[in-house]
Amino acid sequence: MGINVGGGFHHCSAENGGGFCAYADISLCIHFAFVQLNISRVIIIDLDAHQGNGHEMDFADDNRVYILDMYNPGIYPLDHEARSYINQKVDVKSGTRTEEYLLKLDEALEVAGRRFNPELLVYNAGTDILEGDPLGRLKISPDGIALRDEKVFRFARKKNIPIVMLTSGGYMKSSARVIADSILNLEKKCLIETSGDPKTA
Ligand SMILES: [Zn+2]
Repeated sequence: MGINVGGGFHHCSAENGGGFCAYADISLCIHFAFVQLNISRVIIIDLDAHQGNGHEMDFADDNRVYILDMYNPGIYPLDHEARSYINQKVDVKSGTRTEEYLLKLDEALEVAGRRFNPELLVYNAGTDILEGDPLGRLKISPDGIALRDEKVFRFARKKNIPIVMLTSGGYMKSSARVIADSILNLEKKCLIETSGDPKTA
């Protein structure tokens, strides 16, 4: 299990930068897993408010990677070519609220779990879905973010696979507190190991 609070540049592909993303950390991470870790099936769960067009271009038609992308279809990057490479698309339109969002996520995780048997989960956990975020335009509460993250970590636990979480977009100062509270919640629910555990030392 790893959390990188400085990662999640999902608009960058091997060929092009985009948005605020200058290098393709998600694609690099997955290629590392293929080459160095003997992993051959990876699921990307991208729950940032924006469509993850960078990794979608990089893994177009690559059946080792399954992409579940839940995004607002009315905002940047409006990349229709990359959309055609998403294995499982879930639209969350501007103004979507917490309850509807979490229901859609439950359904999506259930479908993904049936369709694909991954060895690694890369979770792009943007907090720009928060209510008030000027770019994401969704209306998810801070508690909703914690629940969202918990659901994705439970998915990894159920599949018994490692998870890499990247905190990606989030354009309000309050995002920092929301991320911290969510990580504390994951620890409380025993979904991440504490720093005192020798396995993580
Ligand atoms: Zn975003």
